[in-house]
Amino acid sequence: MKHQRSSALQEALSTAPLRLPETPCPACADGAEAFGSLVFGLDAMRKRLPKDVYRRLARIISEGGRLDPAIADVVANAMKDWAIEMGADHYTHWFQPMTGLTAEKHDAFLSPTPDGHMINEFSGKMLICGEPDASSFPSGGIRSTFEARGYTAWDPSVPVFIIRNDNGATLHIPTFFYAYSGEALDRKIPLLRSLDALSTQALRILRLFGNTTARRVRASVGPEQEYFLVDRRLAALRPDLLLTGRTLLGAPSPKGQEMEDHYFGAIPARVMAFMQDVERELQKLGIPAKTRHNEVAPGQFELAPIYEEANLACDHNMLTMNMLRHLAARHGFLCLLHEKPFAGVNGSGKHNNWSLTDSDGNNLLNPGSTPQDNAQFLVFLAAVLRAVHLHGAALRLGAIGAGNDHRLGANEAPPAIISVFLGQELTGVIEGIITGTPAPHTGDSVMEIGVSSLPPLPIDTSDRNRTSPFAFTGNKFEFRAVGSSQSVAPANIALNAAMTCALQDIADELERATAAGQSLNATLQDLLPRLFRQHAPVLFNGNGYAPAWKEEAARRGLPDYADTVTAVEHYSDAGVMQVFLRAGVLGEREMLARQEILFEHYAKTVRIEGDVLLRMVNRQILPAVRQAEDRAARLLAHVRAVSDADEAEAEHFLRLRGHAAGLQGAAAALGEALAACRAAADAHGMARTARDAVLPAMRLCREHADALELLVDDDLWPLPTYAELLWTH
Ligand code: ADP
Ligand code: MG
Repeated sequence: MKHQRSSALQEALSTAPLRLPETPCPACADGAEAFGSLVFGLDAMRKRLPKDVYRRLARIISEGGRLDPAIADVVANAMKDWAIEMGADHYTHWFQPMTGLTAEKHDAFLSPTPDGHMINEFSGKMLICGEPDASSFPSGGIRSTFEARGYTAWDPSVPVFIIRNDNGATLHIPTFFYAYSGEALDRKIPLLRSLDALSTQALRILRLFGNTTARRVRASVGPEQEYFLVDRRLAALRPDLLLTGRTLLGAPSPKGQEMEDHYFGAIPARVMAFMQDVERELQKLGIPAKTRHNEVAPGQFELAPIYEEANLACDHNMLTMNMLRHLAARHGFLCLLHEKPFAGVNGSGKHNNWSLTDSDGNNLLNPGSTPQDNAQFLVFLAAVLRAVHLHGAALRLGAIGAGNDHRLGANEAPPAIISVFLGQELTGVIEGIITGTPAPHTGDSVMEIGVSSLPPLPIDTSDRNRTSPFAFTGNKFEFRAVGSSQSVAPANIALNAAMTCALQDIADELERATAAGQSLNATLQDLLPRLFRQHAPVLFNGNGYAPAWKEEAARRGLPDYADTVTAVEHYSDAGVMQVFLRAGVLGEREMLARQEILFEHYAKTVRIEGDVLLRMVNRQILPAVRQAEDRAARLLAHVRAVSDADEAEAEHFLRLRGHAAGLQGAAAALGEALAACRAAADAHGMARTARDAVLPAMRLCREHADALELLVDDDLWPLPTYAELLWTH
């Protein structure tokens, strides 16, 4: 084994779990490390703000709206005092540009006075609005470099928080990010627009059912986060892991996930310490980290929080990903959030659990126990089916990415076809409504749909379908196609926008009929069977991995956009843009800019992977192979000198030479593909070339390199192997 590899492996295997400093239990009230102790939340606000200011701010937080400049100074001052007491000396507007990551630029509270002193200053203006030089963030042409200004504005619906390290602390202010023209340059703005639009339309339905008390309908999101951990010292020997977050080559480990011994297995001690560290830090930030376990692939794990309001959940997931990456270092790990870090074992996803709750606390996707509740539930269910059926192409845009392309449709994650799984029982109910015959469990009376006559719906939540991209799980839907490294904002923006359109259509029709004097009951008797019949093609309870489903889905007219480039090409389809326009979530220019950014992001991701692979092949793999060839040639000459029985040595030598030549040829082709990608006229052309030329050339390089890994003597092979990366925790 090569020396570096061997010593990294020794170190990895002899590393003890990190012992965390003692802290009081996070649930203990008033403990310095209590849940949310690093958050300036409602409790802290109540303690520190004048009553009337607190009340006005609390209303904005729960119902939306802008912070009145008149109270901004008071709020800012209280925040500053709190932050300084917590050890902060800097603040930052924390935002989510279209890079897919979070961004921050820190400023000290320090400010000079006219008489030459320094004081700590933080005004309302500094809280509400920031103006970072934004010229280096993707804007898709919305903002040219010469008018580089971007603006950040506080999103009061997410509390400010403190990020600490050993040397200090910084107050983080969650903000929107927009251009001079007011157009969104981030994912938070459209997410909030989508949540407002969804609430407006959902309330129309609730009012029709006689609900006069709900003031708002909120989307709740619980994102389950999968990730891999690899030892940092081993990862340091792999440029592909460091620069792209995935292995670009590597022969399969003789032992992968086939024994099914990792899933839900005992958590390795070092990993456990890491998880506990992450959970503690998250809980201090008010992020309700709840569930931890080993996932299917060796080296793969999951963290699930308790669900929260969608905007908060999205910010918290971004913070969670930051924390996972950041804290891994102190445990000697590299955390891989990539969707497919290793070929041949499962990749990582992010199940986006989504439901709707009114401000009285009722989950609108809960079947409920009264006929009235059930009828309302069926209307929302019909709206979900309509949203997914009519706007699948928009939803598909919530689950794109160069990384996710390796996962979707690869028999470990749902296919790229967006369909809905409801389970046997609920499907039976719907079929009963369509045909006007009772579902099996409803006895022999004919089932009516009206408010007064619908029987209780016993929903058995126990049947699950891992192969469905969009599955009902009792009182929520689980959008399972989202990638592990992605923000959940795009998925939820698309989902909320599609749902807004569907609810609007339904509310329009119901309001029209009831205004014309028809009873709600009678209107539903007509509308629900019609909607369920129209949208039944989106229902699929079968095996989404089966090849037959692709054909069947095509017959049903469901789009199958197999990769990111195809999905993004459809972004500008009139039908797709209409979803976002109608819901008022994105304007036309904002969408076209986003399309451009997505093409660019995809192309750059693949191009960087290609460049990294090419260097690894030329500078690490081929030199090792040449040494191996040399050795094999000498051995062959030696054997021939002493005996005629040289078949094994000759064959070994020839196979080495064959793959070496193959790899050299593939590397040359990869170089050409990369040049073509760089030369493409625009982002769309670059993305297509990346998909059609760079990726296939990379695959060919990998075939030869992986074959060579098994032919080259272990002491010459420079890269930590899959076995070493996957089984050393
Ligand atoms: P599983 O899907 O593995 O059975 P759970 O049902 O417990 O696990 O939940 C998985 C995720 O779904 C968690 O983040 C959980 O908080 C979230 N979740 C549970 N109920 C809801 C809901 N009503 N709306 C949104 N997310 C939810
Ligand atoms: Mg789940």
